[in-house]
Amino acid sequence: MSTETITVFGAGLAGTLMAVYLARAGHRVDLYERRSDPRVAGAAGGKSINLALSARGIDALARVGLAERVLKDAIPMRGRMIHGPTGELVYQPYSADPSRAINSVSRGGLNMTLLDAAESESDVTIHFGRRCIGMDFERRVALVTERTDEDATELPVRTVIGADGAFSGVRSSMQRRERFDYSQDYLPHGYKELTIPAGDGGSWRIEKNALHIWPRGTHMMIALPNADGSFTCTLFWPYEGRNSVEELQTERDVERFFRAQFPDAMDLIPSLTHDFVSNPTGSLVTVRCSPWSVGDAAVLIGDACHAVVPFFGQGMNAAFQDCTVLDECMRAHPNNRAAAFGEYHDRRKRDCDVLADLAIENYVEMRDHTASRVFRARKRVERVLTKVFPRWYLPLYEMVSFSTIPYGEAVDRARRQERVVVIAGLVIFMVALIGFAALLGWLL
Ligand SMILES: Cc1cc2nc3c(=O)[nH]c(=O)nc-3n(C[C@H](O)[C@H](O)[C@H](O)COP(=O)(O)OP(=O)(O)OC[C@H]3O[C@@H](n4cnc5c(N)ncnc54)[C@H](O)[C@@H]3O)c2cc1C
Repeated sequence: MSTETITVFGAGLAGTLMAVYLARAGHRVDLYERRSDPRVAGAAGGKSINLALSARGIDALARVGLAERVLKDAIPMRGRMIHGPTGELVYQPYSADPSRAINSVSRGGLNMTLLDAAESESDVTIHFGRRCIGMDFERRVALVTERTDEDATELPVRTVIGADGAFSGVRSSMQRRERFDYSQDYLPHGYKELTIPAGDGGSWRIEKNALHIWPRGTHMMIALPNADGSFTCTLFWPYEGRNSVEELQTERDVERFFRAQFPDAMDLIPSLTHDFVSNPTGSLVTVRCSPWSVGDAAVLIGDACHAVVPFFGQGMNAAFQDCTVLDECMRAHPNNRAAAFGEYHDRRKRDCDVLADLAIENYVEMRDHTASRVFRARKRVERVLTKVFPRWYLPLYEMVSFSTIPYGEAVDRARRQERVVVIAGLVIFMVALIGFAALLGWLL
């Protein structure tokens, strides 16, 4: 395999893991990151403080020997804890198999572990405080700046991997090329983060091994546990309309709304009203684009090519899976990078489009359906079917979170299963009806 230098923009979650993969495959890597080193400056805010890591992400980390190190500090979440409007609690396990869990990990901690791992590879050099503002793919130069766009200088590159997130500088230059499809769609909801502080002696004040959900139709709050006993809560809130971010402007408005809708949260988060008013609101965007590469000059991974809304907890997991697939494709085509990038796009594109749709559907499920009896009954039936027919039936949530089955295949399989369950249900109903009619005829 070629040992020429590969330039990676973005030392977030995907870029750092990709750098490790590339170094292990014998490449030299130059990794450029817009921010300063979080290990020196402290983790930057801006996105969720913790994340749910599941099978795809764990598999990608395990392939380069990092899973154990990351999972050591993670908190397993084995189910959802639903908080009703009057504070009542209902627990729904994620799987019939109690050992299955998604894992709450600290974003900052994970990023620092990956930076350490990348830096410990002898052929990886990390340059902090350097932002890519675009590329000339024909001349093979990237425009990089330490301050303003006007100060940008040309950086000669051979091959670039754009891991620079949902507002990618590498992608912005692809968007100016012909026949490049691009769309970005914002949800009418944004998010705010709040904290449930730890209890006495660093204890967890609500169930530690669960993802907590307060589903309230157009408004929703979730909470994931942290290792120090606290929980990071994320409120998903409409920007406009009744009780929106726009409308709830004063601490009094916020208190009134929370007392009515989230009474138990008021007790758990002492600074709730102040933090609600003063914490920033983040937006939620879905990015779709195609193709993900330009010849052998550049390719995109992670949010740069497929940012999804966070309701299936899969954005990072999918970004990590990109690293494994891109690594496989580059190894399969050691002398033809354009072919490797093309195959990577073809293997991932449909799956990531499917994930984008699933993530939006799961938003509706989490905020509207998790509280309903029908939803709970359906989950119970799913668990029974998984126990009785373990080789044949696997609920969609489990295929997405506890397996590495491509997303598209998981959805196809879930649809087939659903058809069989509906037909079997109808047959059972008809047989019961005929039996009942026969019994009635016999009695009369
Ligand atoms: C509220 C919220 C909750 C989430 N929860 C989950 C979850 O539970 N599970 C899950 O799997 N996913 C979750 N996600 C999604 C997850 O955060 C992203 O999918 C993941 O961070 C993508 O990784 P990435 O490396 O592609 O991008 P990023 O993590 O955004 O990293 C991009 C990096 O590039 C740097 N950068 C940006 N622009 C430039 C530039 N021009 N030049 C150089 N560097 C640049 C950035 O500073 C950053 O370090 C969540 C997202 C949000 C918003």
